[in-house]
Amino acid sequence: MLAEEQLIKIGERIDQLITLDVPSRNVIHILYPYARKKCAKPLSLAAAELLCNRVQPRDVVFIATGWPDRPHITPAIAETDGPPGAAALARALHKGLGAVPFIFVEENLVGAMSRVVEAAGLRVLSPEEAIQASASTAPIHAAGVLGFPADPGKAAQRAKELLALYAPAAVIAIEKGGMNEKGKIHTSRGADTTEHMAKVDFLMQEAASRGIGTIGIGDGGNEIGMGVIREGIRESIPYGDRCLCGCGGGIAPSTITDVLVTAAISNWGAYGVAACLAAVLGKTEVFHDAVVEERILRAAAAASFIDGITGYVEPSADGLASTVHQAFVTLLGELVRQGLKNCK
Ligand SMILES: [Zn+2]
Repeated sequence: MLAEEQLIKIGERIDQLITLDVPSRNVIHILYPYARKKCAKPLSLAAAELLCNRVQPRDVVFIATGWPDRPHITPAIAETDGPPGAAALARALHKGLGAVPFIFVEENLVGAMSRVVEAAGLRVLSPEEAIQASASTAPIHAAGVLGFPADPGKAAQRAKELLALYAPAAVIAIEKGGMNEKGKIHTSRGADTTEHMAKVDFLMQEAASRGIGTIGIGDGGNEIGMGVIREGIRESIPYGDRCLCGCGGGIAPSTITDVLVTAAISNWGAYGVAACLAAVLGKTEVFHDAVVEERILRAAAAASFIDGITGYVEPSADGLASTVHQAFVTLLGELVRQGLKNCK
């Protein structure tokens, strides 16, 4: 394994890349400095080290994602930022640490999410089968995909049950709407989008109360984990302190996580953590490549996820075509490769 100072150099470069504002949303240059001020090291490295320190082979890791994107038409519409990041990070956690990833989405997105996870190479099985698969001598690499309730009361209850039943080593939220102190979840444009979003805040809060490591990944300031930089969001992000829904709070969420990773696109934040995990483990193959990236984005479109910016069902995310994400993954992989090579 590399010395910490060498990993910090690689982590800094990974953070630089995941915060490059290619989609030109003009938010990440505000979010990242706030998040970095709260963290002693590069954000991607802090997240990767938390996972390395906590996750043992065959441990379950929870990853929550999914954003119902035009719920006023139907809650069946969800976007391509989040699910690909969750699938790629699940793959890296399994490949690098032997984890059994369980991905949580809205109940009506379980089928679609399963196709994205399988595009990343993991066979989706029931939770019990996935755990059983991790002990199989014949190679089978499995994950679970489960629904999580949007109803707050059911979510609070389910969080307790799931954490007691599976005792995950870590809980990660990627591009998942976070509640403000009034219990409301908002779009980045300040509108109320509480109703159909799975209330993953309860899972995070319950995990934290049990001493389980938590990570939040987001790109807008309204996602779970952004509670870490709540004050900064209230001061500097549009609708941070005053939303349009009249709840009296702003979009700044209240739930905090042990590590917050801010990125220009949430998928990129998840890729950054996966790449850093590869660096920490000294195994480049832990991070996925452009071929897998294309497969994942195609599967997301085939499963009816839409690009949240363009509104089209197409293998793209946050308005950037698959080729851009493939190029991004290639660059990220090269940062790890060169970093490891030059440190030998
Ligand atoms: Zn509101």
